[in-house]
Amino acid sequence: MKPSHIEHIGIAVKSLEETIPFYENVLGLICYNIEEVKDQKVRTAFFQVGQTKIELLEPTDPEGPIGRFIKRKGEGIHHIAFAVENIEDRLKAVESKGVQLIDKISRKGAEGLDIAFLHPKSTFGVLTELCEKKE
Ligand code: ZN
Repeated sequence: MKPSHIEHIGIAVKSLEETIPFYENVLGLICYNIEEVKDQKVRTAFFQVGQTKIELLEPTDPEGPIGRFIKRKGEGIHHIAFAVENIEDRLKAVESKGVQLIDKISRKGAEGLDIAFLHPKSTFGVLTELCEKKE
């Protein structure tokens, strides 16, 4: 079973307030949701583009994962998320192929999705997220 689509692209930014106008006024998208994900120490802003979303990630703590990412690499693309079914089975299958997982079992991400990250050491430098929308 292949992923059905790219669910979202996560982009690390210093400030949602400074970044949202680019997506709205220049690209013509509409920010339809802003949500804080406390355990990830981020505030997220979402834009829908076809089946895919753009997820802006603003650190709420400079020592959180996005805060440290920006310190190391600056603003920019942080991760790509693929929509899958049966995420727990998928994680086991991925791990059995020798890929290092950040999350061995899924957890709750923004927008109520079940999410899990694969380690970029195993994914050729791209932090890769699997996510599943359970209705
Ligand atoms: Zn994500």
